[in-house]
Amino acid sequence: MGLREIRQQGDPVLNKECKPVKEMTDRLRDLIDDMFDTMYEGNGCGLAAPQVGILRQICVVDIGDENQYLFINPEIVEKEGEQTDNEGCLSVKGYYGQVTRAQHIKVKALDIDMEPFEMEADDFLARAIQHEVDHLHGHLYTELVEGDLYEVRDEDEEAED
Ligand code: ZN
Repeated sequence: MGLREIRQQGDPVLNKECKPVKEMTDRLRDLIDDMFDTMYEGNGCGLAAPQVGILRQICVVDIGDENQYLFINPEIVEKEGEQTDNEGCLSVKGYYGQVTRAQHIKVKALDIDMEPFEMEADDFLARAIQHEVDHLHGHLYTELVEGDLYEVRDEDEEAED
């Protein structure tokens, strides 16, 4: 188990474009394991490599639906509909805000063996994937927030992506 430091908003690494992964290495496998550990430790439902300071197109998602999703070089190829809900981020600790995103997406990515796959997602899973893919292109959800960013109070801690 390896925990990595989660970079916080204001750290320039969070605003940079990530490079695609060309080949799987032991180093990247370790990174991916650590990303899952770090996400679970932070009670998040997603984490992208730049959040732990690595500018590679890798993100992980677990929204509690019994699946652990890994996306390498993900690309959202279809977006349909709209959903508006609260969103948080492990790199913007203690805050949440309202964001509108696509209701339904189709994403193309590579798996841990660098094999391509396609997946469709709706609702909160689609939201989490869109949030993480944004990280890989240097964008935080705070750029999309409609209205104010709210402070999380201890007693109603939100799930954070
Ligand atoms: Zn985030």
